[in-house]
Amino acid sequence: MPMYDEISAGAVLHVMDKNFEINYLILNYSYGHWDFPKGNIESGETEIETIKREVMEETGIIDITLIEGFRQQISYKYRKKSKLINKTVIYYLAETKSNKVVLSFEHVNFAWLNFKDALDKLSFDNSKRVLKNAKEFLSNNIKSY
Ligand code: ATP
Repeated sequence: MPMYDEISAGAVLHVMDKNFEINYLILNYSYGHWDFPKGNIESGETEIETIKREVMEETGIIDITLIEGFRQQISYKYRKKSKLINKTVIYYLAETKSNKVVLSFEHVNFAWLNFKDALDKLSFDNSKRVLKNAKEFLSNNIKSY
């Protein structure tokens, strides 16, 4: 029996604003929660291919660069009708230069937020943890001028 009923991949996608502050993209799912862009890994796809496709489909953003060395997995269970779904999501870190977002029908809103506001906005503790780790990774690895 497979360990998970659903496997998704997603991105902690960020942009640098004009004040050199890092802003993270958080989407408002139609279920009500706020979380990173993500989606089901389709058969034959690598995790990174899924992320590029999902980010494009969900936000319209095509200019994304995946950052090497960050890969974090979370899992949760939720109820779909009467069935309990055991789900896992693998997150990568990605940056973009364009903050223009075109939403799909899957989401009702979006926000580019600094670390603190993004942490407040995210609905679930497991995603908050991913954001904290992403921020720490960036502050240890980002180039200084
Ligand atoms: P995907 O974006 O992977 O295609 P989806 O839009 O079908 O996923 P989810 O975002 O996984 O759906 O949401 C399905 C259910 O799981 C919702 O009821 C939501 O509240 C819950 N859920 C979503 N993310 C988490 C999480 N990180 N931790 C716990 N529960 C979550």
